[in-house]
Amino acid sequence: MRMGFAFKEYQQQARRTQNPDLTPRERLEHALWGLSSEVGEVCSLHQKTHQGHALDASALRKEIGDVLWMIAELCDVYGWDMGWIAEDNIAKLRRRFPDGFSADKSLHRSEP
Ligand SMILES: [Mg+2]
Repeated sequence: MRMGFAFKEYQQQARRTQNPDLTPRERLEHALWGLSSEVGEVCSLHQKTHQGHALDASALRKEIGDVLWMIAELCDVYGWDMGWIAEDNIAKLRRRFPDGFSADKSLHRSEP
């Protein structure tokens, strides 16, 4: 699947800028705190739209990229390929919503 390859390539490129001096525990903490922080930055850009600011689409794309980088680091901590995660997620969604989204299938699904 092409999506898996794209994520694998991204993960390899992102790995180049991880701090190699961190212990595994420190890498996990860095990824988790960083993911939380970057999601906060995505939310902050939207929050500012309620203070009269226009949504800064360029900044939003950069922050979404930062979220992706943190996900790559988190996957590396566990030795997981982001492509596998992406493909498993799509497979789960195809099982859950074989004909696309439906509120009924969302309300009455068997797996979390
Ligand atoms: Mg950021």
